[in-house]
Parts: sequence; structure tokens; C-alpha cells
Amino acid sequence: MSDTGSGAQPHAAATRPHDSAVTDAFGLLGDGTRLAVLLAIWEAHDPADEDNSLSFSEIFERVDYDDPGNLRYHLGKLEGQFIERAPEHDGYALRVPAQKLVRDIVAGVGDHDERLEPTPIDQRCPFCGAGTKVSYREGILFWACHECDGMTPGRDFASFDPPGPLAAVSFDPAGLDEWTAEELRAALAVRGRRRTREQFEGLCPTCSGQVDARFDWCDDHDPDGCHACGLRWRVGARFRCRTCENYGGASPRRLALFHPAVVSFYDDHGVSTRFRADEYERAKAVYDLVLDHEVELVAEDPVRVAVTARHDGDAIRVTFDEDVQFVDATRG
Ligand SMILES: [Zn+2]
Ligand SMILES: [Zn+2]
Ligand SMILES: [Zn+2]
Repeated sequence: MSDTGSGAQPHAAATRPHDSAVTDAFGLLGDGTRLAVLLAIWEAHDPADEDNSLSFSEIFERVDYDDPGNLRYHLGKLEGQFIERAPEHDGYALRVPAQKLVRDIVAGVGDHDERLEPTPIDQRCPFCGAGTKVSYREGILFWACHECDGMTPGRDFASFDPPGPLAAVSFDPAGLDEWTAEELRAALAVRGRRRTREQFEGLCPTCSGQVDARFDWCDDHDPDGCHACGLRWRVGARFRCRTCENYGGASPRRLALFHPAVVSFYDDHGVSTRFRADEYERAKAVYDLVLDHEVELVAEDPVRVAVTARHDGDAIRVTFDEDVQFVDATRG
């Protein structure tokens, strides 16, 4: 177990990229033939099928290689870490880490050329009322307002692209073609919610390390363009992974929806807080609900942050502690 104290040093695994096991694994794959072998076995792979192996002669045929002796050499290198023999089927099968790796390749991880130019969607900017756009570059899906500074009204983003970020999340390029621009907006919300939820629950969505959480606030805040903090909202939750230092932020108004009592509160008023990546209108409606949540920094020592949701004359208030965990929920 690693140290769980809040002042813990980064986990020892942070040094892993320098370990010989990691460099060896990447070295093993630094050969086009070996990747082609993994992809060939993957193509024959069917999760519903008991036999997911491919025989030597089938691999030889699929990778279109001209030297069987040399192919055996490459298979030998992959065996153990990435593939295993399936003697009952007289073939080779992918081990789980190789399946994950091939899925990443199929998802387009490592492909940095894919772009989506800013595309208008039917959702107004909550701050200035202008139309908004989704775009994609370098593995990040953006939702932005091109007329105001979005979530960062105090920052000079004249050269920033897109100019007024409203939300952004890492997204694999293979998903881009599947969705309309509006569905991408909902997909961004689904992915962002999941990543934030993992961080909120202490798990790094990038490396599976442990995550520390705290609140940050601006003492001299101007919501219309704060030069002190540069941000739209005065109070924010900050998440940082101890291992990979992956960093994330979220407004507590969003985190409030992770409390089951808040979900029930809306359900009791016939309002669903659920949406899928292909349910753009519902995603939009939930965004509007969250926007109306009121955030209050109740105390600084110890830190207490409260979020109040109101509907039809009713209200629910949830309180977070200094570690961004719920301490209570009260209705009325
Ligand atoms: Zn705007
Ligand atoms: Zn500020
Ligand atoms: Zn991490």
C-alpha cells in the first residue's frame, strides 16, 4: 500500500517509465511486424468465441510476411508479455494487456492529425447568449463560445484556439465520425462526467492511481472577468493524481449531481438527470439544471462548501468537506 496521507510523495510508480520492464515492453513493439501480428490476431478475435487464437500459418498469411523463420522469431519475442500459446487450438491468442493496446490503436490513440473544425450546434452560450461550437484537435474535444471568454473570462486567450472554452475532454479520434456535432456535445458531457466521477471517487481515469482532492477559491472574485483567478466561478474542486499528476477541475455545482439525494430530489419533481451520449436534448437540459445550482463557501477552517438545487419551490442542499466529499444533504 502506498502512503495515503494528503501530503504524500508521488507514488513510486511515477518513476515507472524509467523501469526496464516498461522500456522493454515498448522496445518489443518497436517493430512493424510485431504490431501487425497483434492486429492480425485481434482481427480474428471475437469476445463471444471460446477460441480466440490464430494458427501460425494463418498469422503468416495475414501479415503477408516472406520468412517463416523470422516470423517465428517475432512471435517468440511477443510470447509471454503480449501473446500466449493456445495449445488446445494450436494457435496464438492475445493476452489482456495486448487486447487493451490493440483497442487503443483501433481507437486512434497516437493519431494527432485528426481534426474537427469548429462546428455550430444548437446550444447558446450560458454567459453571452451567442451560438456555440464543438471542435476537435490533438485528442481533445472542445465545446466553446467564440464570442466571449467562456469559463475563463479573466484570461487573455486572444491566441487560444478555441477562444472561449466552455468544456473540454480527452476523446479518441475513432469516435469522431460516429456522431453528429450535437451528439459530440452530449458525448463530451458523458465522458467528462465519467472522468470527473472517477476523480471524485479517488481513482485516476488516466493511470488508475490515487487522486487527491481539495477546494480552491478566489478571495477577490469578479464573476464578469476576474483578473485575480481568471475563472468564471469563484469556487472550484481540484483533483490531482499522485502518480501521473493528471489534473482536473470541476465546479461543485456539477459534483452535487453525484449525490443520490440530489438525483432523487429531481426525480421527485419528474426531472431526469440521466442522459446518454446520443441524447443531446437531455444532456442540454441537465447542463441547464447544473448551471442554476448555487454554490456557497460556507466556512474556510475547516472548509465547507454547500450547493443548493431548487425546483418548484423546493430545495436540497448538499455540503462538501475539505477533501471534496459529501458530509450531508438536507431538503427543505
Ligand atoms: Zn459566450
Ligand atoms: Zn477570481
Ligand atoms: Zn494518474
